[in-house]
Amino acid sequence: MKKAVCVVLGAVVLAGAIPLAGCAKRETNDTYEISAEYFPETRKLSAQMTFTYFNDTDNAHSELRFQLYPNAYREGASHAPVSELYRPSAYYAGESYGGIEISSVEGAAAWEVCGEDENILSVTLADPVYPDAAVSLSMTFEVTLALVNHRLGVGENAVNLSYFYPVLCAYSDEGWKECVYAAAGDPFACECADYTVELTVPQELTAICGGDAVLAQEGGKKTYTVISENVRDCVFFLGERFSVVKAYAGEVPVEYYYFDDDDPQTALSAAADSLAFFSETFGDYAYPSYKLVQADLCYGGMEYSMIASVSSDLQSDAVVRATVHETAHQWWYAAVGNDQFRHAWMDEGLAEFSCALFFEAYPQYGLSRQELVASAEKAYRSYFSVMQQLHGEADTSMSRPLTDFSGEYEYWNIAYNKGMILFDRLRSSVGEKKFLAGLRGYYDSFCFRMASPEDMIACFSRAGTDTEGFFASFVDGACVI
Ligand SMILES: [Zn+2]
Repeated sequence: MKKAVCVVLGAVVLAGAIPLAGCAKRETNDTYEISAEYFPETRKLSAQMTFTYFNDTDNAHSELRFQLYPNAYREGASHAPVSELYRPSAYYAGESYGGIEISSVEGAAAWEVCGEDENILSVTLADPVYPDAAVSLSMTFEVTLALVNHRLGVGENAVNLSYFYPVLCAYSDEGWKECVYAAAGDPFACECADYTVELTVPQELTAICGGDAVLAQEGGKKTYTVISENVRDCVFFLGERFSVVKAYAGEVPVEYYYFDDDDPQTALSAAADSLAFFSETFGDYAYPSYKLVQADLCYGGMEYSMIASVSSDLQSDAVVRATVHETAHQWWYAAVGNDQFRHAWMDEGLAEFSCALFFEAYPQYGLSRQELVASAEKAYRSYFSVMQQLHGEADTSMSRPLTDFSGEYEYWNIAYNKGMILFDRLRSSVGEKKFLAGLRGYYDSFCFRMASPEDMIACFSRAGTDTEGFFASFVDGACVI
């Protein structure tokens, strides 16, 4: 969507005509203004949202399409958020369901819930919105939370509130990018936007969110107001017994909230050290603060803008690994976005390889780059051999929808392990200097924007390396590892 502008910006920055300014805010961000209240006794969240869309595409639109992620948790969903393997640890109280009910969309000519799995809100506009024009819509909706240790749900210790509102689908030349949910991977493709969110909760709950929230208390209730710019999401963690430890990464405050951790300094140090290292290596952190939250999650961790969660089920060495991985996503998800549904290897492979770089620079954590890459190679080869034995061949292509993966095993080996191997081999083949110049150019050019695989390859080309064939051999699946 912003490709032409970004390429020019990247070229100018690399040519040194202007100083490196770090991440530049987009001139016309969409805005989400949400006012919501959470009722624990019914596990419901009532909300009103005014969404303003700024059309920065080259096309007029008579329809906007939004993702309805909460509907993945409803009974009968065909793309369930949790696989059979993880169901017992996720649904701790047995079967439980959620969903979203839209009750009104003002400012629209018509609207309907549709999509392959009731995952889309289609809004027909009263008049087309032309390039460089804006349109506002006001919606009211109610979300029901399932009892589940997952991104959206009432967990065993706290409540996870992410992707709880209609999220505008990203737009590309091919149209609106729709995602059904997927149990393996992050089924998200969202542009950065500006958010103003008010969340009211009962007095006994504390809400943790990305950025600085202003707290007001009245009538036995707390209202948190948070204003965030250039973020891809808005998430809250609600609990009654969070403790916090604090540190700094340079001048950036880093906080770790937890409810069950005998050694909170370990996770805090990993978060602060890795935030400082990635700032130095890839370019300054794009946001004013960073938080890590211990959460009820059936898998290791989850990244959001300015905040990440790590599962309370993790052992201490796994906490460090997950923390560094999720912190790397502040660069490769929060700042530089990509279509995580169709090109998961871009952000996951980079986050994994960023971990390897971090542990190489911080040997005190007891892990080495060689060890991590060797372990990824071993796991990947084993996956390849198993798939060949089972199916006669292994699909090793990397850019495919999450729903095309047979499950966590295949997804993990392709997006994480093969992704990490890709970037490690790239670094070896072009050399450290050009590799890091390419990555820094990628961060500069696409901060607060979304990048395609071609955009990423172009950044390495501008750093003086012809990598098109290299990427193709990995992504299409031809190369032998
Ligand atoms: Zn990740």
